[in-house]
Amino acid sequence: MDIIKADKETIINTYARQPVVLKNGKNATVFDENGKKYIDFGSGIGVNSLGYCDSDWVEAISAQANTLQHCSNLYYSAPDVELAALLKEKTGCEKTLFCNSGAEANECAIKIARKYSFDKYKTDKRSRILSLKNSFHGRTITTLSATGQEVFHNYFFPFTEGFSYADANDIKQATDILLSGEYCAVMLEFVQGEGGVIPLDKEYVKSLFDFCAKNDILIIADEVQTGIGRTGKLLAAEHYGVFPNITTLAKGLGGGLPIGACLADKKTAEVFSFSDHGTTYGGNPVVCAGALVALKKISEESFLSDVLKKAEYIKKELSDIDEIKEITGLGLMIGISLKNKAGKDVLADCLSSGLIVLTAKEKIRLLPPLSISDDELSQGVAILKKII
Ligand SMILES: *Cc1c(COP(=O)(O)O)cnc(C)c1O
Repeated sequence: MDIIKADKETIINTYARQPVVLKNGKNATVFDENGKKYIDFGSGIGVNSLGYCDSDWVEAISAQANTLQHCSNLYYSAPDVELAALLKEKTGCEKTLFCNSGAEANECAIKIARKYSFDKYKTDKRSRILSLKNSFHGRTITTLSATGQEVFHNYFFPFTEGFSYADANDIKQATDILLSGEYCAVMLEFVQGEGGVIPLDKEYVKSLFDFCAKNDILIIADEVQTGIGRTGKLLAAEHYGVFPNITTLAKGLGGGLPIGACLADKKTAEVFSFSDHGTTYGGNPVVCAGALVALKKISEESFLSDVLKKAEYIKKELSDIDEIKEITGLGLMIGISLKNKAGKDVLADCLSSGLIVLTAKEKIRLLPPLSISDDELSQGVAILKKII
């Protein structure tokens, strides 16, 4: 079968795919259908946190698929409970609700925030959510509303009401908006990923958390991209020394299978009760068995310090290239802006030379598997340096 031709004829055309059919891989090395080798600095957009086909992960999901692949949320099973318990131990959150994607995790967070406020203040006039300009929170109608970029607010009207947007790092603007008393929550990414790999300022984050705590406005941290070791800490919140009320996870948590998680602190853990929310696949045993392996490995202190070392290596190797204007990001979430070349041209040239990279806006974006080996890292960096 000519896969590319058949894809265009049969799959609804919403993705700008590269003209490569990937077939098999191990850690950060992947091969296409013609046997051409690539070093992968994209990890399927930050999903393959342990690279391709980590043997412990494969063993866990295979064993679980051979035992009980699904039983619905009408029954108890072990994998989702074990995963929630480990998340609680490692993050300090109180309780978790599992779903299947980042957008869904954010939907869940938004519902918790609105219900928290409604239950406590007995009014629907305190239901607005402030998010940041240039953010990205997902593709459902509500998470598009939460996304602070006008390009996402087209065609699908009417969008969910009740969202406003503030410039990142402008504390006065945020607090002026929040002082209206109509807001139940602020939603933010510690490092805006799709928006261009831009970390928030520490002072801004601290001030915003203080203001919100004083005014009983919840903070929802969208850690769908930054979470689970990506930044060299288990959660990016740790870099900022803050503790959000609600944290959402997805991408790297499953190690390659679809999962989303909405983590609630003590204040928000009991907001939902029977039938307030749910999803058929949420907490699927196979997916959770895999996520448990990913979380166990990634949350090790030595694994996380290696992530930081790998990030330093990349930044050091790229530091003396004249064409590079700026390198941004945190840990293995790296944005590179160039003086003359366009990100998408570099991406195409890298691909021809056997390196997979991503873009974010005009930048090159690197999200290598956290488990990438030193050898793969140096091979990939050598290609990237040559192309840039
Ligand atoms: C990818 C992403 C999402 C959406 O996740 P999906 O699994 O595609 O629904 C939401 N927020 C952030 C910060 C993301 O990077």
